Amino acid sequence: MRPNYRHTKIIATLGPATESKEQLGRLIKAGVDMMRLNMAHASHQWVADAMWFIREVSTEVGRHVSVMMDVKGPEIRTARVAEAIDLKAGDHFEFHIESVGPTGDIPAVSVNYPGLPGDLDVGATVLVDSGLIRMRVLGKDEVRVRCEVLTPGKIGSKRHINLPGVKVNLPALTSKDEDDIRAGVAAGIDFVALSFVRQAEDVETLRAMLDSLGSSAKIIAKIEDQAGVRNMEAIIRAADGIMVARGDLGIEIDYHKLPLVQTQLVQACHAEGKPVIIATHLLESMISSPMPTRAEISDVSNAIREQADAVMLSGETTTGAYPLESVQVLKDIIGSIEPSVHGVLNAKIQLREPKTKMLRSAAVLAQELGQSGIVVFTRSGYLGYMLGALRARGVPIYAFTDIESIFRQLTLPWGVEPFLMEFSEDPEKTILNAMAYLKRQGWCSPGNWLVVITNALASDKVIDTLQLRQVE
Ligand code: PEP
Repeated sequence: MRPNYRHTKIIATLGPATESKEQLGRLIKAGVDMMRLNMAHASHQWVADAMWFIREVSTEVGRHVSVMMDVKGPEIRTARVAEAIDLKAGDHFEFHIESVGPTGDIPAVSVNYPGLPGDLDVGATVLVDSGLIRMRVLGKDEVRVRCEVLTPGKIGSKRHINLPGVKVNLPALTSKDEDDIRAGVAAGIDFVALSFVRQAEDVETLRAMLDSLGSSAKIIAKIEDQAGVRNMEAIIRAADGIMVARGDLGIEIDYHKLPLVQTQLVQACHAEGKPVIIATHLLESMISSPMPTRAEISDVSNAIREQADAVMLSGETTTGAYPLESVQVLKDIIGSIEPSVHGVLNAKIQLREPKTKMLRSAAVLAQELGQSGIVVFTRSGYLGYMLGALRARGVPIYAFTDIESIFRQLTLPWGVEPFLMEFSEDPEKTILNAMAYLKRQGWCSPGNWLVVITNALASDKVIDTLQLRQVE
């Protein structure tokens, strides 16, 4: 395998700090596997331009990345205010729906969700501005909620509201999300990340929409509230992967339980054989500093040790002063930590089909051989995803496909190195082409053993085979 091979993938969010052709090229060359388009602040023209730009730069630098559109989902926000409202502990404050005015006796702001008074009970917690201002509900009617301020702060315009533990009756997809997804599909996105997934039906709603648009984009369900955590098993089964969206999750649950919930989510994904992304604040201090904090280094190491499929950068690569350094820091930590992680195969995953059981044998064999790798040919990507899910540390999974969209979607799973290659009519020729390509690119050397998973013709039957091949 190449010396710079790593199992854990890196995702970077595109933003002002990385939008120039030069900077994006550097980022992709440095090792980013997937670019995220955050639709919280993006226009459709920006999406079309970004897609074109990413594909062009990828071709120029000779390294391809996938693109994930992260749609905002059902989000509750306060309205614009002429001036920030300064609130002290003990003050009373009112939220009202947009169609009515304020009562007038206490400071107030309207919210974009008419169901807010209905969803909240007296005593519930309301968090404003990503958890900075804490309030408790004192009373309500059909259109207004009165709160007592517990943690003081200033409420500016369009502040995000979190309602920990409250069952919010918002749709899975807003009309903005639907418009964004249509624009993303038209531009050729590979993944859609759906915010605030609370139940498996939310994923099914998005899947139906993608199907109706003829898109095979994979769905990443963002788990960021208590309902999502409660329903994680069903959500993971319905989705193609999960994002542990720690920004909101750290507000919606007790912050000190976040590491426990992260581990639960990672393990539940391992059990289902689905990819898991760890997101938010991995290297937050690197937005303004060229070096991470020691705590951030430990946090990233923890994600690597837990064997998450990918680690994601947000502010570090959108507005940060050190986007390239942030990617390098992730690579350095992965490079140091991965070799120390146990090599035990994923024992949680249930393999039901004989063919997937064969994949486990391939993983055991490749680990036993050492200096080896698994070559797999896949048109749906499924075998690549399953091999990644087995977590054969030290064994690169060389996944060859002849379908461009599948090639890009294979950039996510742990340990998978995807390659786009024409398949020959003759399976033997396809294997030899793949091995010659791997040798040319420095992935393997003469004498190395490779485990090859492919179809073969036996008499007139196509059979699944696991073959041992030596590189010449
Ligand atoms: C998060 O909350 O951690 C997250 C990734 O979502 P967003 O950036 O959309 O808030």
